[in-house]
Amino acid sequence: MEFEKLSLIELCDGIKSQKYTSKEVVEYFVKRCEEKKDLKAVIEVFNDAIYCAEEIDEKIKRGEKVGVLAGVPIAIKDNILYNGKKMGCASKFMQDFVAPYSSTVVEKLLKEGAVIIGRTNMDEFAMGGSCENTCYGSCHNAIDFDCVAGGSSGGSAVAVAAGLVPCAIGTDTGGSIRQPASFNGVVGIKSTYGRVSRYGIVAFASSLDQACPITKTIDDCELVLSVIEGRDIHDGTTISGTMKEDYKPKDKRLTLGICKQIIEKLSEIEGAKEGYRKYKLAVEKLKDTFDIVEVDIPHITSSLACYYIIAPAEATSNLARFDGVKYTRRAEGTKDLESVYVQSRSEGFGREVQRRIVLGNFVLSSGYFDAYYNKAKKVQRLLRREFKKAFESCDALIMPTTIGTAFKIGEKLDDPISMYMEDLFTVPANIAGIPAISIPYAKGENGLPLGMQFMADERGEEVLFEVGKKFQETLGGKLL
Ligand code: GLN
Repeated sequence: MEFEKLSLIELCDGIKSQKYTSKEVVEYFVKRCEEKKDLKAVIEVFNDAIYCAEEIDEKIKRGEKVGVLAGVPIAIKDNILYNGKKMGCASKFMQDFVAPYSSTVVEKLLKEGAVIIGRTNMDEFAMGGSCENTCYGSCHNAIDFDCVAGGSSGGSAVAVAAGLVPCAIGTDTGGSIRQPASFNGVVGIKSTYGRVSRYGIVAFASSLDQACPITKTIDDCELVLSVIEGRDIHDGTTISGTMKEDYKPKDKRLTLGICKQIIEKLSEIEGAKEGYRKYKLAVEKLKDTFDIVEVDIPHITSSLACYYIIAPAEATSNLARFDGVKYTRRAEGTKDLESVYVQSRSEGFGREVQRRIVLGNFVLSSGYFDAYYNKAKKVQRLLRREFKKAFESCDALIMPTTIGTAFKIGEKLDDPISMYMEDLFTVPANIAGIPAISIPYAKGENGLPLGMQFMADERGEEVLFEVGKKFQETLGGKLL
C-alpha cells in the first residue's frame, strides 16, 4: 500500500478500523525517510517510534479507547522539545542537547495517540526563509532539488510534500510555516497568537511565535490544530476556548477582502509578475463563490520593517541564555568568563543568528530605543486597529503567500535584504496576532507551486478552514 498517497485522516481511519497496523504505517514512513535522506528534510528518525506504534496496535486489538491521531506518524521541527530526544535548533551550538521534558504540543499529540517519528530540518533558531542556515546542510525543495525548501520550517514542509510523513509540526514567527508550505505545495497554518502553547518550544520572538501543523489537506490541518490548541498553565499567553467554540457560522455568502496596498505592492515588484497574474486569475474564479470587496490596510507593508525590529529585539534577549555555560557547547581554550561567552557564542551561532543579535541589540540600545523599538511597537498597534477595521467589511483577506515560487539554493544567501523581502506577505499576520493559512493553488512556469494566503480576524481559524475548502472546491482540485 502506498501510504504516502493517503491523507492523515485516511491513515487514522485505516489504523483504527484495522485495515492495516500502525506498525506497518510507521515502518513504511521510516523507510521513506531513509530513502529520501538526500532531501535533508528529516534529520533524525526516533528509534522508539516503532515500539510506540506497536503499543497503539495492541490497544486497538484489545478494543481499548484510543485517541483521534492513534498510530499516525508526525514529525516535529528541531526546536520542539520531546523528552529524552535530541533537539538542536539546527545549530552547531546545540548539537548535543537532549530535551529534559516534552513541550505541551508534543504532550497533546502523544495523548491523542500520535507517533512522533522524528525531527525536521530548519533554519538555525528559526531565523531564515530558505532552510539554508542549518548545521545539517541545506534542505532541498520537494519538487525541484536545486531549489530551496523555504524556511524556517523547510524540513517540515518538504517532509510532508515528499511523503515522508502525513503531518509535521513547524513554527511560524514571521511566515516560517506558510512560506515553505507555499514553496512545496502543501497546506500550512499560523494560528491566532496564543492558540497553541509555546511551552517547551525554543523561543525566537516570544510575542509572535506559534507552532502549528503542515499537512497535505485542509481537513488534516484542522484536525491536528484542534489537538494541539488550548489554554496551558505553562504559557500565560495562551487563550481559552477552542476554534470550534469561537466559530459563528454565517448563513449568507462569505466576503473576501482584497487589500489595496498589497495589490499596489504586487504590481510594483518585478519578481511578482507571475504570482500577480495567477492571483488575479484565482480571484476572478472566486467571484461566483464569494462576495469580494476592496479593503484598506494603509500600514500593512510597514509590517516587514516592524517585524525586523521587534523579532530581532526579542531574539536578542531570548538567545542571551545560550552562552556556553548551561545549554550549549563551550568553546575550548577560553581563559575567563567573558571569553567563554564571547568565544562560545562566536563559534556556535551562524552568521544569520549573529546578524539578528547585532540588529536586536542595536534597536534596543538606549540612544535608539525610541526611534526603532518603540516606534515599531506603535506601528504594530496601529496595524492591529487597521486589521480590525478591515474585518468589519470582510470575513477573510485573500493575498499571495509569497512573492514567487521557490528560488535556487544559494541565490539569496549573500543578500539578506532580498531574503527578508520574502516575508513581505506573511509577517502582517504575526504582527497583528491573527490566523493565516497557505493553500496550494497554482503552478509557476517552472513547475513549482504557489500558495494562496487567507487571513481572518483573531480566533477566526474555522473561518479560514471554511474559506479554504470553498476555495479548493471552486478551483476543482486543479492548480491554476
Ligand atoms: N523568514 C522570517 C525570519 O527569518 C520568518 C522566520 C520564522 O517565522 N521563524 O525571521
